[in-house]
Amino acid sequence: MEKSIWQKDNNAKNIKKLDQDIKTDILIIGAGITGVTTAYNLTKYNFNVVLIDRGKFFNEVTSKSTGKLTYLQDLKYQDICNVYDFNTAKLYYESQKDAIRIVKKNVKDNQIDCSLEKSSSITFTTDQKEVSKFDKEQSFFDKLGVSYFNTCESFTQDDIKRLICVKNTYVFNPVKYLNGLLDKIKSKENIKMYEYSTATKIKKEDNYYIVMVNNFQVKTKKIVLACNYPFFLIPGFIPFKTYMEKSYVAACKVDKNKKINGITSNYPTVSFRFYEDKDNKYFIYLSNSSKICDKLNYEKNYKETINEIEKVTGKKPIYKWTNMDVMTNDFLPLIGKISNDDPNVLIATGYNTWGMTTGTLAAKILVDLINNKKNKYENVFNPSRSLNLKKIKNFTTNTLTSNTKAYVLNFIKKNPSWYKNKALVTKQSGKRVGIYFDNDGNSHVVSNICPHLKCFLTFNEVDKTWDCPCHGSRFDIDGNAIKGPSKDNIKIDETK
Ligand SMILES: Cc1cc2nc3c(=O)[nH]c(=O)nc-3n(C[C@H](O)[C@H](O)[C@H](O)COP(=O)(O)OP(=O)(O)OC[C@H]3O[C@@H](n4cnc5c(N)ncnc54)[C@H](O)[C@@H]3O)c2cc1C
Repeated sequence: MEKSIWQKDNNAKNIKKLDQDIKTDILIIGAGITGVTTAYNLTKYNFNVVLIDRGKFFNEVTSKSTGKLTYLQDLKYQDICNVYDFNTAKLYYESQKDAIRIVKKNVKDNQIDCSLEKSSSITFTTDQKEVSKFDKEQSFFDKLGVSYFNTCESFTQDDIKRLICVKNTYVFNPVKYLNGLLDKIKSKENIKMYEYSTATKIKKEDNYYIVMVNNFQVKTKKIVLACNYPFFLIPGFIPFKTYMEKSYVAACKVDKNKKINGITSNYPTVSFRFYEDKDNKYFIYLSNSSKICDKLNYEKNYKETINEIEKVTGKKPIYKWTNMDVMTNDFLPLIGKISNDDPNVLIATGYNTWGMTTGTLAAKILVDLINNKKNKYENVFNPSRSLNLKKIKNFTTNTLTSNTKAYVLNFIKKNPSWYKNKALVTKQSGKRVGIYFDNDGNSHVVSNICPHLKCFLTFNEVDKTWDCPCHGSRFDIDGNAIKGPSKDNIKIDETK
């Protein structure tokens, strides 16, 4: 699999695998920005905490982001105003500003060298039809008294029809940042950490939970689900509240750091930023960002992204990778108690591709909830918040169509040649299987059905993986689960 520009800084941390039954007060499942920041916030208290990850710490969505810390998030505020109202959008704006402040404080307090630097954020469009939306976003900022600009000296392109620019935003290297927080967590006796430790089942007993991790029991009073996407359907019904968006990213060396980052308002989205470490300057470019069921020709998407970055910079990329995140139908994240029946199971997901800020904020909300402290964002991000007509409409156009489309496409694409002779889907002994033929002529046969919610898998020719076009699980050619939500593999059980 391709590696992101940040993953080169994700070095071995000597964290072992869970290999015995244990007891704790709080179990945090998932060590991305949410899980690690939650553990970091808990260093100030005396709880016994266990932090686990199914793979290496912060090697998933967080390590493949573009690392922007901004409150200008395409044209998000009018989307929130459309579903809710001005006050809800204002709260979301304040939450993002708070999160930026928290990251800055954490960097300062722990003297973390993570290339945190100011970078102006812009949202722009080359499409005349989009222009009126910019008026709406500006009127939101006007009402709030937030200053913005309609030009940006380091971003001039003839075909730009409109842009909004704000100045007091940041970019950083998320992996180096989390390395810094982890150093602090490691110094605490009451926080235990385990890599390569997968949670597979949660069982409620009297006033505690038993979580199965690597077939061992973790007995815990509270659970924090910081796994980006839960590995179960009930409680919470998260798959019905969300859909997945996938993007293609590339980075190449450049001569100048322009201290600007940008995103388009159009769909599929294009986004960029600059990054400077002590040796080099880079331009990071993201494109083809769309619902995971929408663009299933992975090779074509990659090629397009690479061609575009080469066109912009005249340079060949040295890093290229893909990433996906959980989107919600009302543009707000899901942070808090997973359901009213399970007050001790907390979740944070649905960051709508803005988890550097929202994951940081989630860690603050979750730790306040653990300590029975009021948090001003608790109600607005509550995962059990009520439905309204706009949300139901968005559910139909996003979640429902995304999943249905993935199912239907698979039925239509019965012709194996779709997989270009490298892999095909067929039936063996009445079961739907996927077969990948490697360069040595060996065939690798796996089940073609995702164990999570039974979607059919598509073959990703670039990474040589079987990917779920519904909820984003991924499996290698031998059927090992390499990304959730599926916790089970797709190996064929010869005995059945
Ligand atoms: C292309 C792209 C670019 C982005 N750029 C930005 C950006 O510039 N700024 C911004 O604010 N946001 C950005 N985001 C969004 C941001 O990256 C994510 O919202 C955020 O990283 C999610 O963090 P997380 O902690 O929830 O998930 P993760 O980082 O994925 O962490 C979850 C962890 O849980 C583990 N896990 C899963 N299941 C289990 C299990 N059963 N047992 C144990 N462990 C488990 C996983 O291995 C993983 O390490 C971007 C997203 C995408 C897709």
